[in-house]
Amino acid sequence: MKLARYAVNGDIKIGRIDQSETRIAPVSGVTNMFEAIERIAEIRTKTDDAQAHPLTEVTLLAPIPVPHRNIFCVGKNYRDHAREFSNSGYEAGAVKGAEIDSHPAVFTKPANTVIGPNDVVQLHPHITSSVDYEAELALVIGKEGRDIKKEHAYDHIFGYTIVNDVTARDRQRNHKQWFLGKALDTFCPMGPWIATSDELDPENLDVKCWVNGELRQNANTRDLIFDIPTLVATISAGLTLKPGDVIATGTPAGVGLGFNPPKFLRPGDKVSISISHLGTLTNTFQ
Ligand code: MG
Repeated sequence: MKLARYAVNGDIKIGRIDQSETRIAPVSGVTNMFEAIERIAEIRTKTDDAQAHPLTEVTLLAPIPVPHRNIFCVGKNYRDHAREFSNSGYEAGAVKGAEIDSHPAVFTKPANTVIGPNDVVQLHPHITSSVDYEAELALVIGKEGRDIKKEHAYDHIFGYTIVNDVTARDRQRNHKQWFLGKALDTFCPMGPWIATSDELDPENLDVKCWVNGELRQNANTRDLIFDIPTLVATISAGLTLKPGDVIATGTPAGVGLGFNPPKFLRPGDKVSISISHLGTLTNTFQ
């Protein structure tokens, strides 16, 4: 099932997108994605098809616009990207020959970063001149758990969506950490919908990203260095994951810093990310 948050005629609703991805029908009585996660069994049996709209007539919004807490993110989780980052000069403390980490690198993005499909990402030119894109598969937790074993990881996942882990590379480099460069307002476009975990095989999804129509990232989630069960096990170790938590799994090679000279984003640039079964997330930078 594909669930989206959307605006139509001045109302904001949670709805279910049909198989052809052309229409959306509201789920009555459910006002946000946290409720949808809690009541998913009931939702599977009810939608109000009489009130369905063509997707072209609604505005799709961020599925989880205000996460309960920071979005968990994983760095350097595709080999070619780990190398391009290490060689770029923007990774503080990079050690040649040690591009691939032995443990996942985890950081977070605060809730203020989240925006929806087609919203504008701010370039914040007064504090950064190196804003970059990162196409990523994100998973949404559906069942609370701590110390989740790898073999049980998928039992805790509600579904999947796309995020763009927008990053100010100079702040990432200069402050020798990742948070400040990842935490700026509007730096986490999310959407356009959440596909529940029964809809897809998360270990075989094409991840593509275009900047102004030019294909920059093109990979498959089978190439993740640390797979989804490993990420869930790592992050939940001693930390209770809760329904609605979001984990972004890392970006493939082809980000702006990987080019020489780097291709950072400029006013008016349009970034589109597509992942199999999860639609396309497009945002303009200004
Ligand atoms: Mg990232």
